[in-house]
Amino acid sequence: MPEAKLRDLRARFGEYADVKAAIALLSWDQEVYMPPKGAAARGQQLATLSGLAHRLLTSGEMGALLKDLGEAGDGLGPDDRALVFETLHDYTRATQLPEAFVRRFAEEQSKAYEAWVRARRASDFAMFRPHLETMVDLLRRKADYHGYEQTPYDALLADYERGMTTARLREIFGELAPKQRDLVARIAASGPQREPAWLDQEWPEPAQEALTVDVLRAMGYDFEAGRQDKSAHPFTTNFGIRDVRITTRFNPRDPFSALMGSMHEGGHALYEQGFPPEDERSVLAEAPSLGIHESQSRLWENLIGRSLPFWRWCTPLLQRHFPDQARALNPEAAYRALNRVAPSLIRVEADECTYNLHVILRFEIEVALIEGELAVADLPDVWNGKIKDYLGLDVPDDARGCLQDIHWSHGAMGYFPTYALGNLYAAQLFEEIVEDIPALWTQVEHGDFAPLLAWLREHVHRHGRRKKAVEIVRDATGREPDAQAFLRYLECKFGGNREGS
Ligand code: ZN
Repeated sequence: MPEAKLRDLRARFGEYADVKAAIALLSWDQEVYMPPKGAAARGQQLATLSGLAHRLLTSGEMGALLKDLGEAGDGLGPDDRALVFETLHDYTRATQLPEAFVRRFAEEQSKAYEAWVRARRASDFAMFRPHLETMVDLLRRKADYHGYEQTPYDALLADYERGMTTARLREIFGELAPKQRDLVARIAASGPQREPAWLDQEWPEPAQEALTVDVLRAMGYDFEAGRQDKSAHPFTTNFGIRDVRITTRFNPRDPFSALMGSMHEGGHALYEQGFPPEDERSVLAEAPSLGIHESQSRLWENLIGRSLPFWRWCTPLLQRHFPDQARALNPEAAYRALNRVAPSLIRVEADECTYNLHVILRFEIEVALIEGELAVADLPDVWNGKIKDYLGLDVPDDARGCLQDIHWSHGAMGYFPTYALGNLYAAQLFEEIVEDIPALWTQVEHGDFAPLLAWLREHVHRHGRRKKAVEIVRDATGREPDAQAFLRYLECKFGGNREGS
């Protein structure tokens, strides 16, 4: 009996997954190829398909099927049980929100987004303020619909990092913030780290692109099951396990920007290319959280791509693509250029030492807004005070302050913490990797990333949503996720006497 129902569930969810893939493909095209005048029609197409996807997921038939299969739960094998309970989770989250609320939220989202674009251009928070007030109000109601035990922020967090709580984040970040501030202050006291003169020249785009392709191939990214294009903001998307695409962007005055971006998105893409083929079109072919997804991108970008052994391999490669520009370059100089530390106003430009501080101040502000401790009107003052406190900088205007990120205009609160968690998970997993693969750094020096990828496939990728992020980290490392490994990594890399500085 459950066999027939499981087949039915797979078929129904498969239809939903197909529509979601079509949405992803239209969105990819919107960022990569679509001419500007196509925007209005594309918006309608995406809205229609999103409505269709929602109806397929929340249909009465789907509900009845999940109810029956949920009751049969104990009689199912582990894979089928995971399939049923993960699908049930998505179904439940989707049906907790009344349709009228979902529509209203989408309408306010697009108004808020447009207002944010204008406000950021004018660097005037007052233009965005009423929209953000509406968003915060709607987010509180959303939390009420989903339900929560301790704080409404927990209910929002569950969209991005299931299993994580506000209380636990306060503990983790509470330990991280003072130690990172201390490290940044120590580095600042040792004098400014300037951009090296050799970097400031023309690095032609075709050679940059060829370099990113060589590095992606070496990482194990399968170009037969993906491709790389250009877009304003780099991202990874997939339309199935065998079509995982990434984008990058090129800065003609800096070859590292595209390379690090490609390695970052490549890390995301290797994760998605690593889901088991039999999970195709099912809820299991997904990461269990954004934090664990981000751990994969940051591991490749930072722990590998910003390491000295990597540059022992990559410097000759860079020289092959840029025989004139990089003739005199050596691995140590490349390593130093990629690991300069300087507090800055903009999160997406932040280095490894300061990045989490940008996230933590956003987390503190979001929790205060959602819990009603902070009024939207006071946001710029609080923001600027925290930037001064955490990074020692004065915020000159709202555009470089509280208006810099797109997230709040989309009503995405609970998202930012996943970036910092990605750093922490990556460092914790990596300590284990170095222990499990004693020859890792020698392999990296030779451009051999296969053993590293095999480890990630085994301990992270193949599980899809069978395990929560916390379980993946715990099972792989024997410890609950915490800040210790990341702090050890920062101290080792940036604390004390920095190599060659
Ligand atoms: Zn990412």
